[in-house]
Amino acid sequence: MSAAIKPLVAGNWKMNGLKASQAEFYKMVVGISDEVADTVDAMICAPSTLTALLAEKAGKGPPAIGGQDCHTAASGAHTGDISAEMLADAGASAVIVGHSERRTDHGESDAIVNAKAQAAWRAGLIAIICVGETEAERKAGNAVSIVEGQLNASIPDGATAENTVVAYEPVWAIGTGLTPTAADVAEMHKAMRVNLEGRLGSEGQAMRLLYGGSVKPANARELMSVDNVNGALVGGASLKADDLLGILAAY
Ligand code: PGA
Repeated sequence: MSAAIKPLVAGNWKMNGLKASQAEFYKMVVGISDEVADTVDAMICAPSTLTALLAEKAGKGPPAIGGQDCHTAASGAHTGDISAEMLADAGASAVIVGHSERRTDHGESDAIVNAKAQAAWRAGLIAIICVGETEAERKAGNAVSIVEGQLNASIPDGATAENTVVAYEPVWAIGTGLTPTAADVAEMHKAMRVNLEGRLGSEGQAMRLLYGGSVKPANARELMSVDNVNGALVGGASLKADDLLGILAAY
């Protein structure tokens, strides 16, 4: 089934990038050939200070532009926050919600992530919903059950293959250079597919399931060829055009 799903490679710049980063971004815009664009979707989830600038630089893209977080409300008295409507207005077509750094640094629960995903949809954005176990949870043999719990509680009813992307990011693999084995990724992504199909039927069958955590050009081909892996969420290696293009070349 997953053979029919067009993969997505989404870069997550996190709290990196200044106006000068437009030059590196533009190398991505011109470096993505039509052939690659036909095979795989590309996106950069930029800091919100750069959303409009990069969206303008990208034109019709690729890459598409995404945000990294949004508030649950459309507007109002929430100093320092940004709404999905603002991101859409600035040219974003998607937003990451529930990244483990948000869950850890800002205490975001599954319920908050669920509300943020609904806020993303309300603004017409794709919600890229992140899940993943900690090292201790994996060592205790609980990785699959933890992720299933996160899926059940973080993904709102009404999720479709169009409005939602799920990213599995083991917390211990983010920014560490460590990755799970291909067999572990296969086991997790199969469990996620079964869970989503059980709940959402054909929409769960067609939903894109990304792997994230220390993806780089050297390991992209192996990770991206695992069953039920429909792309990648890439942090560090999405900051450099050569690395991002190298990952896209895995397709
Ligand atoms: P990384 O980050 O690729 O730098 O490990 C992935 C992420 O946090 O999305």
